[in-house]
Amino acid sequence: MKSEHQQLLQTYFGYDSFRSGQEDIIESVLAGYHTAGIMPTGGGKSICYQIPALIFSGITLVISPLISLMKDQVDALHQNGISATFLNSSLSANEAAERLVEMKAGMYKLVYIAPERLELTHFLHQLSELDISFVAIDEAHCISQWGHDFRPSYLKIKTLLQEIPSNPVVLALTATATPVVKEDICRTLDIDLDHQFSTGFARSNLTFSVMKDENRAQFLMRYLEKNHSESGIIYASTRKDVDRISQKLANTGIKAGRYHAGMNEEERTRQQDAFLKDDITVMVATSAFGMGIDKSNVRFVLHYQTPKNMESYYQEAGRAGRDGLDSECILLYSPQDLHIQRFFIDQSQGTDEWKHQELQKLNQMKDYCFTEGCLQAFILRYFGEENPDDCGRCGNCKDNRAEMDVTTESQMVLSCMIRMGERFGKTIISQVLTGSKVKKIEEFGFQKLSTYGILSAKSAKHVADFIDYLTAQQFIEITGGQYPVLKVSDTGKEVLLGKRKVMQKELKQVQTITNIDS
Ligand code: ADP
Repeated sequence: MKSEHQQLLQTYFGYDSFRSGQEDIIESVLAGYHTAGIMPTGGGKSICYQIPALIFSGITLVISPLISLMKDQVDALHQNGISATFLNSSLSANEAAERLVEMKAGMYKLVYIAPERLELTHFLHQLSELDISFVAIDEAHCISQWGHDFRPSYLKIKTLLQEIPSNPVVLALTATATPVVKEDICRTLDIDLDHQFSTGFARSNLTFSVMKDENRAQFLMRYLEKNHSESGIIYASTRKDVDRISQKLANTGIKAGRYHAGMNEEERTRQQDAFLKDDITVMVATSAFGMGIDKSNVRFVLHYQTPKNMESYYQEAGRAGRDGLDSECILLYSPQDLHIQRFFIDQSQGTDEWKHQELQKLNQMKDYCFTEGCLQAFILRYFGEENPDDCGRCGNCKDNRAEMDVTTESQMVLSCMIRMGERFGKTIISQVLTGSKVKKIEEFGFQKLSTYGILSAKSAKHVADFIDYLTAQQFIEITGGQYPVLKVSDTGKEVLLGKRKVMQKELKQVQTITNIDS
């Protein structure tokens, strides 16, 4: 015997069974509990509020920052025979007023609203005249100041809830929430631990890899040549890069579009639509692109530069493979990207606490680039999953180079740091270790240290990369802002005392572009 909500799933959406997490969330909401649902992109969050919306007697408000998606979502609901509408800045004042009248008349089961609407006091007052049973909050991580996408208007959700006399049930949904962000969402919205459901963040159809020491432009061209008929997104950090890369691709006959906040809205919409309709195969874009994009057949997401944190990275990379088919997420790492990001953070108007937090996130992003462990597992741990399994698919899991014991080399680096007083950054530490003659070393008298030149057989670049590796392995801690200072961590001290071994994969042969074809 099917439950009422199983029948609705079949009748309105044509699906036979619920996906993981959906039923728990729906049951919790229907039992009247404020609920949180954390599901990966493509996991099926919409059904979690659309089915309760059909059962509740009053209106369901859906708060979503994805304005460009609202019309499509409403159209899709209409096609399934469900009455719905939206209120956002694309409507004139008259149209918005008309929709409110229709809402009062009970014409809609679901109403999508943009968070900015909540800034309008008269709108909030009007809500008290409506019969609202349920409020679903999409992209709920925007409510947290610790999230990467904080939207001040999301804080108005509290006011919204106070204005609605009927005490509606609240459902917070997101695909990206670190433990801190999840806690923040649940505290703000009074969601008990018993009503927080997470299906995990793993995306079993995505293959992650990080490319270091590559000529990015060459890598990109070869990659696109090999995947020429596939739809993909290339993320670049600056508008200038987007213009430059898209122009270059267009010159070589690739159907490439571009998208960044410096373009006018009409042009952006035109480019986005062309990508959605597959008139453009590759979209080159800044992070401004993607929030409202529901394109199922994106086969690859390639980051031309390193993003500022893991949340942004996973959200952007996660736009690949929404249809569940195998897709690739590739990050092209270069140390300059991190210098630029660090500079931006340092020069920003944020508080010291904010800057400190952003720098830490950036350091974790770097650790992702330098880890030799499973990349998917790294991501899952970042989002709070304990002991995730290795994916077996990512660039690191597939990397079958032999492991070497690098404990002695690690001890040399760590003891050099201690002898230098743990007050310096990676560059000068590697210079001391490789016996460089730069003036600064003499100024500090570091040429007299026993560790001076102890790794002179290696290049400073090799030693600097090795320091990054030791940092990703948590043997070194980073403090400081634009000029990071490295310190030996507690586990690093265990290495120094010989209580812990350090292993590293054999050095790669200098990667040539032909490796990509193999
Ligand atoms: P999210 O918002 O979590 O990224 P969506 O709600 O857009 O995901 O759902 C992703 C896709 O999965 C949609 O095409 C949706 O119709 C489909 N889907 C959702 N639930 C089910 C289900 N129970 N069975 C089959 N397909 C589903």
